[in-house]
Amino acid sequence: MIAEKIQNLKNEALSQILKAKSEDELEETRIAYLGRKGQISQILKKIPSLDREERAQAGKIANEAKEAIENALKRAQKQTPAEKKKIEEWFDISAPGIRPPLGHLHLVSQAIEEITAIFAKIGFTRVRYPEVEWDFNAFESLNMQGDQPARDDFETFYIDVPPHQKWGRMLLTPHTSSGQVREMKAHKPPIRMINIGKCYRPNYGVSHTPMFHQFEGLLINKGVHIGHLKGTFDYFAKEFFGPKRKIRLRPFNFPFTEPSFEVDITCGICLGKGCRVCKEGWVELGGAGMVHPVVLKHGGIDSKKYTGYAFGWGVERVMMMKSGLKLPDLRLMYSNDLRFLNQF
Ligand SMILES: [Zn+2]
Repeated sequence: MIAEKIQNLKNEALSQILKAKSEDELEETRIAYLGRKGQISQILKKIPSLDREERAQAGKIANEAKEAIENALKRAQKQTPAEKKKIEEWFDISAPGIRPPLGHLHLVSQAIEEITAIFAKIGFTRVRYPEVEWDFNAFESLNMQGDQPARDDFETFYIDVPPHQKWGRMLLTPHTSSGQVREMKAHKPPIRMINIGKCYRPNYGVSHTPMFHQFEGLLINKGVHIGHLKGTFDYFAKEFFGPKRKIRLRPFNFPFTEPSFEVDITCGICLGKGCRVCKEGWVELGGAGMVHPVVLKHGGIDSKKYTGYAFGWGVERVMMMKSGLKLPDLRLMYSNDLRFLNQF
């Protein structure tokens, strides 16, 4: 009983010594336990009145406690401020830690990383080109002259600066195709680029955001033909959407490609058999085609020697097609609402 009390007092005193911040505090602790009226001294005084067996045991423990406290006091008095600090900062490295909350990449960033990796495997290099562009790169060089009706599809944000003599008006790029001629001017064929970036069009609503993402593939080499284009899309569809998916090409018309195609992929629900969602088994992936000779010429490439294919598809679109995610409002994607984003 008395032995236990002494042990507790000893622990209390040692802990106070460790926490003491000054000489004065150490002295206060010494007086509180070992001083004339200190708690351990009081107990020592009572020992002679105990019966023989208890006396011997308590005496031994009390003396040990007294010695331990005195030694701790001596050590504490000798400690430099640096040593003191080290002791205060000590922590138990074996104690389980608190995990910091871990976030993850945004859905669109996840899709961009995946698309980049898929095309990297077949030798395409990820590039980026300016979001603020000249009319020439965004339209003119792509065989879309100012009065062409095709340009009406690309309602555009223009920047309020005087037009450049050669490059025309300044604008926010409405598609990643603006990177095509830039890439051709920067590199000689063979060219294998995958340009992934932000695009801007003044549409705002449940199915449109004024900023969205596209990925643009461009391959130029000697002897490139539609078979290469189809093979690349087959590969992408299987890698990105799964081994059971197939693609098909439908003739279409774009000013920057000749011939041009709309690319469809078999529906993810019925795998091409036809269902309520897709009707006939196919859903539209995006546009593609063989690069128009006029575009090659603007890029300084001889269309008699080289041919190429190009495609520009929406990142948000393929991502939603893959996941089967049906957003009632596309704007959710960019509202930064964690209740939505944390689900992925
Ligand atoms: Zn279907």
